[in-house]
Amino acid sequence: MKTRSFKGGVHPAGGKEMSSGSQIVRLEPKGELIFPMLQHIGAPATPAVKPGDRVLLGSVIGRASGFVSCNIISSVSGTVKRVEPIDNGAGTMIESVVIESDSEYEAVEGFGDPRDYDRLSKDEIRRIISEAGLVGMGGAGFPTSVKLAVKDDSLIDYVIVNGAECEPYITCDHRLMLERTEKAVLGLKILLRLFENAKGVFAVENNKPDAIGALGEAVRGSKRMYVQPLKTKYPQGGERVVVNAVTGRRLSSKKLPSELGCVVVNLATVAAVADAVAYSTPLVSRIVTVTGEDIKEPSNFEVPLGTATGELVEAAGGFLEPPKKIILGGPMMGSSVSGLNVPVTKTTSCILCLKNDGAAAKEPSACIRCGRCLDVCPERLMPAKLKALADRFDYGGFENLGGLECIGCGSCTYICPAKRRLSQSITAAKRQVLADKRAAAQKRSLEPSGGKEGEK
Ligand code: SF4
Ligand code: SF4
Repeated sequence: MKTRSFKGGVHPAGGKEMSSGSQIVRLEPKGELIFPMLQHIGAPATPAVKPGDRVLLGSVIGRASGFVSCNIISSVSGTVKRVEPIDNGAGTMIESVVIESDSEYEAVEGFGDPRDYDRLSKDEIRRIISEAGLVGMGGAGFPTSVKLAVKDDSLIDYVIVNGAECEPYITCDHRLMLERTEKAVLGLKILLRLFENAKGVFAVENNKPDAIGALGEAVRGSKRMYVQPLKTKYPQGGERVVVNAVTGRRLSSKKLPSELGCVVVNLATVAAVADAVAYSTPLVSRIVTVTGEDIKEPSNFEVPLGTATGELVEAAGGFLEPPKKIILGGPMMGSSVSGLNVPVTKTTSCILCLKNDGAAAKEPSACIRCGRCLDVCPERLMPAKLKALADRFDYGGFENLGGLECIGCGSCTYICPAKRRLSQSITAAKRQVLADKRAAAQKRSLEPSGGKEGEK
């Protein structure tokens, strides 16, 4: 099949060869496990346990606190030691449940039981996915149940499984496609039951020909599923970008994928759908790549959620020397953390340990108007101009120039020869504009008239 792509984008050095050959190894945690109540976009879960409580593998320890929220499930059996705010490694305190594992993995009743998913109704499938605490596991953390709650199922004509894994270094989805191919296909099959008119597409970058081959073999003969190879280019795995590459349709910040007939689900999430629906197993573990120039033995581990990231680094042989930078996620869109006392969460795809902090080593200089940032922007924005507006706090001008369409991919910063921190300024301005809008909407809703003066 013809390889598809999008206009713009960059080709950052891969680094994938370090771990792409490392088979997934199951790792059991040794110390306490930490479960932040916010591992998703939306409202934090509400702790459902207190210190001293005994919990089982599969116990709900945090309850979704609204429509856009998510259950948090215990990945071990043991005792709740504390419920307290804990630093997420980036300076934000998040209410968390700390559990001491008894290493018994005694599970709640029914955990792991096979289920005849073909007999389940759409509502039952959606309820199971919601209770299982599934989110977008590529990093976004958007609750899957919300993503699947579209207005009219019959109008969805594409369910796209995002297996692009376009960030350098990360290989956990690649290994999953190779080693758990059938599970990924089963997850997509289950999702297609929700959308009777949809095709199911595995969208995979062509730097993973073995995964494309394995998935292609697994869906051979299917009338509804196929594999779409994508050109290897960053940010090929961005939601808007992958929709555009697969369907030719263009999303904007004002439209949800479902409004263009698409549902986009991360590859690891699709495997989690299979676990939850066909095997009564909620989201309690994930595959994490531990890699970077500073890791002795780059690896892929499957670990219970809540495991300390430090335990994974130790299992990967430790550091070659004290790292200059630790990133959770990839180098383009991941978040730097101050240390390894943070836990693996639903969205931790990678622990990247680098010997050099490239960004800090280079001082930004004046724009030389080369236009490269403009060429690479997948949203066809003008990053240099947006940064100038952001730096002047001209948020009106920023919005008029399309600043809210920025997907924060960082391609502009990556390509800029003057090392200008374009995406950082644009993202900060976008956050401010959105926060101002939210505050204004809240103020309007608190006015006695509900902000409807003058309405007839
Ligand atoms: S302006 Fe935004 S979307 Fe465009 S390249 Fe920069 S970070 Fe990516
Ligand atoms: S890439 Fe950098 S130097 Fe070139 S136009 Fe953009 S901001 Fe200016």
